[in-house]
Amino acid sequence: MSATLSLPEHLDVRQREPLARHSTFGVGGPADLWVDVHAVDDLVAVLDAAEAAGTPRTVVGHGTNLLVADAGIEGLVLANSCVGLTFDPAGGLAQVESGHTMARLARQAAAGGHAGLGFAIGVPGTVGGAVFGNAGAWGSDIAAVLESAQVWYPDGVRRLGPDDLAFAYRHSALQNDPETPVVLTAALRIEPGDPAELEAQLQTFARRRLDTQPRGQNAGSFFKNPSGDYAGRLIESAGLKGCARGGAFVSPLHANFISNDGTATAADVLSLARHVQTIVQQRHGIRLEPEVRLLGRWETAAWELTA
Ligand SMILES: Cc1cc2nc3c(=O)[nH]c(=O)nc-3n(C[C@H](O)[C@H](O)[C@H](O)COP(=O)(O)OP(=O)(O)OC[C@H]3O[C@@H](n4cnc5c(N)ncnc54)[C@H](O)[C@@H]3O)c2cc1C
Repeated sequence: MSATLSLPEHLDVRQREPLARHSTFGVGGPADLWVDVHAVDDLVAVLDAAEAAGTPRTVVGHGTNLLVADAGIEGLVLANSCVGLTFDPAGGLAQVESGHTMARLARQAAAGGHAGLGFAIGVPGTVGGAVFGNAGAWGSDIAAVLESAQVWYPDGVRRLGPDDLAFAYRHSALQNDPETPVVLTAALRIEPGDPAELEAQLQTFARRRLDTQPRGQNAGSFFKNPSGDYAGRLIESAGLKGCARGGAFVSPLHANFISNDGTATAADVLSLARHVQTIVQQRHGIRLEPEVRLLGRWETAAWELTA
């Protein structure tokens, strides 16, 4: 890491911050440097400073879709806590900063009588993480509501529309971009709605979630659903429910959830995920692609999971 990295003085910068604390999997080693950022101007300033110093940088939201290596993450990790939100009913838009929580956005929209964002109640994490992965639930996703996003690039901030972001199922163009752009804000479409009806819809969604998804330490669906099928069905029918490696196990409630019993390492999770991928390919001839993002200092062989 370069010694010339210079960050705004008012920011709380920590060395060797354990990332297991910041990931719902509860695994992963430390960030060399960690900074929690609460204002979009600071987010831009820190990203510019890291770029100028040649310091590797990684933006995370709430760590709900991450598998961080036991050896941690090199360079600077920025935790995005930029949570500004304005509803503009006349313009039909919610203007939201990328560190805002999706579920909170759904509740605030419902309370204000703004329809269209109810699906966000089922998506843990931040708006930025949701744009990055085109997160969705209940038949909708970010692609269905995004008007535009302000995105940081090393050469400046750009306003991108859905076509630029090339959304597909749990995919955006940001995922393959070598410049590792960062979502700063998003403009999401809203429509007028009845607050009581919208609130009732959120409660229905939330109840269904509780009945069908395991609690505890996990990162949601580990693999993407292959076209025309469900990863959970393929994993279950390959006899893998309950299969374990160290402290990581395939959930008996939902086979596409890998969970941590509280003692797992990131290596345990990876080893189990690779076993599941191999067995499903042998039994069904389908190679499952991870939805969870691997971050940090993984050995080269680990990336075969994503190949
Ligand atoms: C119990 C559970 C249930 C889940 N259910 C669903 C579901 O129904 N549907 C669904 O789609 N997902 C689901 N997920 C996965 C997760 O909620 C989504 O992937 C979410 O969008 C991740 O957001 P995050 O802020 O936690 O991102 P993180 O996990 O912190 O990061 C994920 C990736 O996004 C990148 N990223 C984060 N913020 C930004 C930004 N501002 N700009 C650019 N890149 C960024 C990170 O670098 C990383 O590569 C579930 C997860 C859990 C734990």
